[in-house]
Amino acid sequence: MQKKGVAILGSTGSIGTQALEVIQAYPDKFDLQVITAQSNAKLLIEQAKRFQPNTVVIGDESKYQEVKDGLFSEDVHVYAGDQALCQVVEFREVDVVLTALVGYAGLKPTLAAIEAGKDIALANKETLVVAGELVTTRARTKGINIYPVDSEHSAIFQCLVGEFHNPIEKIYLTASGGPFRGWEAAALKSVTPAQALKHPNWSMGAKITIDSASMMNKGLEVIEAKWLFGLKTEQIDVIVHPQSIVHSLVQFQDGSMKAQMGLPDMKLPIQFALTYPDRFKTEFPRFNFLDYPQLTFEKTDKTTFRNLQLAYDALEKGGTAACALNAANEISVQLFLEEKIGFLDIARINEHTMIQTPFISKPGYEDYVETDRLAREFALKRK
Ligand code: NAD
Ligand code: MG
Repeated sequence: MQKKGVAILGSTGSIGTQALEVIQAYPDKFDLQVITAQSNAKLLIEQAKRFQPNTVVIGDESKYQEVKDGLFSEDVHVYAGDQALCQVVEFREVDVVLTALVGYAGLKPTLAAIEAGKDIALANKETLVVAGELVTTRARTKGINIYPVDSEHSAIFQCLVGEFHNPIEKIYLTASGGPFRGWEAAALKSVTPAQALKHPNWSMGAKITIDSASMMNKGLEVIEAKWLFGLKTEQIDVIVHPQSIVHSLVQFQDGSMKAQMGLPDMKLPIQFALTYPDRFKTEFPRFNFLDYPQLTFEKTDKTTFRNLQLAYDALEKGGTAACALNAANEISVQLFLEEKIGFLDIARINEHTMIQTPFISKPGYEDYVETDRLAREFALKRK
């Protein structure tokens, strides 16, 4: 593999910090060009000193001076604000942009990177949920690749290597079921953010951890899969697999199924998205069958965990439905984390907002921006 210039959007988060470890492990393969953070100036400064990128961006402009001062003795460019995020991905030295930032904020810089002809290593699933059709169409037009970082989608991608000419019959996304697997609505009513933030198998950022507890994460992943792999809704199934060892499966036209397996560790899908088609040697712990004598599978409960059903509904409806659902969910998760609403209110607010937000069947970029804005307003009023 030729040496790659990498930009990491959201380097201070869960995916971002693990991506830095991956890049550090192969100094002759990667050139770290850009790192960015929204508000954690302290960690961004530390990362810049340690990993020596050419450029850093702090989203929160009020922290520009702090970052600038913190890095005065370093040979690094410092920028601030949303606009800078879109400009730094265009730098000539950047070959691949890892979108490890959270939420709708990923859409604009991802489109800018595609426009500039950069490959995308996509962790920020919300971008494809909001505007999957627009993003994948532009990527195709530009001839750039979107490599999935999300573990389930990486699993499917890994199963498809060597099979790109073979039609997919169906995929199964596996779901751990989160901390509330098997719970009934009555018990879920009073769960706290602290309980929901305890994921059994993965340590991740706050938003995706709540999404995992509410099954919205799996819903977002169903939509993400549609756009990444060009599938129809009925070709995407979800199966609960509490051990998180089988990361997802593909079923082909002859009935054969391929799965990708391994211990849950995001560094592997992050690395594969950056090294495809190569696999680099790692020292990650290896799977031992005897530690997991039983791998089990269960049906999903789309009634209690209504968010998963809502995601399927949004896919069926198309247009701006998923954009509205995503915006509602970003608001409702935030309200839940601030203890302003209960756990079950997340899906209630999401559903009402998706129904009420004006629907556009063939949206352009500005329609997504407006839908996101309106849906956030509706969601806040629904509190
Ligand atoms: P996180 O909250 O740990 O980190 C988010 C990063 O994005 C931080 O660096 C933060 O500074 C930056 N950021 C936050 N808001 C921003 C904004 N408005 N503008 C610019 N930057 C902003 O999140 P995470 O868990 O690392 O998840 C990142 C993305 O990856 C999400 O879309 C998530 O769904 C996806 N993902 C994460 C995991 C995981 O294991 N954490 C797994 C699969 C997919
Ligand atoms: Mg996932």
